[in-house]
Amino acid sequence: MKVVIALGSNLGDRHVTLNAAVEALRAIITVKAVSTYIESAPVGGPEQPDYLNAVLLGESDLAPEVLLEQMQLIESKAGRERIERWGARTLDLDLIIAGEIIQESEFLTLPHPRAHERRFVLDPWLELDPAATLPGFGEVRLLP
Ligand code: ATP
Ligand code: CA
Ligand code: CA
Repeated sequence: MKVVIALGSNLGDRHVTLNAAVEALRAIITVKAVSTYIESAPVGGPEQPDYLNAVLLGESDLAPEVLLEQMQLIESKAGRERIERWGARTLDLDLIIAGEIIQESEFLTLPHPRAHERRFVLDPWLELDPAATLPGFGEVRLLP
């Protein structure tokens, strides 16, 4: 099944962290494409440094919950500490879509509930796949 993962970092050497995260993800899923890294201003949360963001397209037959667990392990290994919601972090990995799955639970909501309103997710995704679609939302369009 097709998976789309959003990567973000705004603490430490962001470039090195994203590169390492991509390599770590290669050990779990088949990575098909990685977007360019883009700089973006933080949205919500406390005042914090700018982010470096990217989107990765992959193939995986893991159950999405298992994939998210593995992603959280990669975040921990990157030194992520959960201090406050939407606060600065060395690494954030969000599962944007997993195939056509639409579900809502505390641990995993698919598609990611805020992806459709985030340029730092949609722009790099469209760069990789101009025909990108968000299940339940339809075709991905550039936000104004
Ligand atoms: P946001 O979700 O708005 O991007 P965040 O990435 O800062 O905020 P986290 O603290 O990283 O939020 O994650 C909070 C919880 O969200 C996680 O414990 C995870 O279980 C849950 N979650 C639900 N759906 C998803 C998803 N699609 N991808 C990643 N985490 C998810
Ligand atoms: Ca996030
Ligand atoms: Ca997250």
